[in-house]
Amino acid sequence: TAGHPMATIPLPQALLRPLAVPQRLLLGPGPSNVPPRILAAGSQQLLGHMHPEMLQVMDEIKAGIQYAFQTRNRLTLAVSGTGHCAMEAALLNLLERGDTVLVAINGIWGQRAADIAGRLGTLRAPGCRGAAGTWPAPEVLIHPPAFFPQGLARHKPSVLFITHGESSTGVLQPLEGLGELCHRHGCLLLVDAVASLGGAPILMDQQEIDVLYSGSQKVLSAPPGSAPISFSERAREKMLRRKTKPPSFYLDMGCLANYWGCDDKPRMYHHTAPINSFFSLREGLAMLAEMGLESSWERHRANCTLLCQGLRELGLELFVKEEAVRLPTITTVRVPKGYAWQEITAFLMKEHGLEIAGGLGPSVGKVLRIGLMGYNSTKDNVDRVLGALRDALQRCRRSRL
Ligand code: PMP
Repeated sequence: TAGHPMATIPLPQALLRPLAVPQRLLLGPGPSNVPPRILAAGSQQLLGHMHPEMLQVMDEIKAGIQYAFQTRNRLTLAVSGTGHCAMEAALLNLLERGDTVLVAINGIWGQRAADIAGRLGTLRAPGCRGAAGTWPAPEVLIHPPAFFPQGLARHKPSVLFITHGESSTGVLQPLEGLGELCHRHGCLLLVDAVASLGGAPILMDQQEIDVLYSGSQKVLSAPPGSAPISFSERAREKMLRRKTKPPSFYLDMGCLANYWGCDDKPRMYHHTAPINSFFSLREGLAMLAEMGLESSWERHRANCTLLCQGLRELGLELFVKEEAVRLPTITTVRVPKGYAWQEITAFLMKEHGLEIAGGLGPSVGKVLRIGLMGYNSTKDNVDRVLGALRDALQRCRRSRL
């Protein structure tokens, strides 16, 4: 009738059915399965995002990140977003137009960092060039030792970006001496530890890392949606020297630092925190603290070793030959000859309710990726994925290939 607005878009029938979420064992490169304790934390009733109890939870998260990162940095918090959000937060706050950033490209994450830096109008020196052009060939997994001193001397960057756990290739990038080297060249070291934090040793203060970030959905076994990040005093000073504001309000580290109680001013509303994500992250960090970092590193190392042995026994070839640089959280194995990788991953999903992944970026079509992270890093899961792969190798062979 006249005067009453009418909705003309029909209601979506699918929403009238109950939400259907199948049970799956997530042994891909993330997210990992969430343990009951963290699920329970995430399903608690809300608090107001400025209630003292909520601010207390945020303080506890901060302490948990300081432990997980092994840092005393005051500017330590979780951004409200996934790993990419932390990556953008780091680059957007550190860099200003005209800055040079040196990006070590040892897989897709370097490519992405270079993309983000490019959008900021910063000069970016390419990382490592592979035979095929701008991006390294998939076999170029580790930068030659000379890359860093040469790159720093030649390009004089203000920031060097590098990925610690390259989840697209399965490489654990050694960082020894890199922080010190960067500082000798007046450069800040920015490290992506989304896929490696808690699974392989990383010591922010001892290794002189200036900005370190991670994600919630890998070793921390929480749902995706919050990302730990920390800035050294050097990094904080560079941000204070900015002539222009960072180009994102949401990710402005000055505002976030205040909201997280990292400065001496009263905490002010900046954005509504994803409260339940923070509850879950708090529990993920608490579980890591209870286990202890050293035990967590050892657990990931031991289960990765078992997995690698089993993969070899199945006749599969590990993508990363050198054990010392193999990422303990995500193992890459070459797609065996005579098989299509999509058939293997689809078979595991359909017949075993188990997720593993194909390659990503430079490793697409070359590898399968198996993740054993946090709650999912168990001997039982090693056995399950090996059993399922054995089955797939028998059932997915393509006779015509
Ligand atoms: N860096 C690395 C090393 C990662 O493995 C991932 C996630 N696969 C990201 C960054 C991006 O994180 P997210 O998907 O949570 O945005």
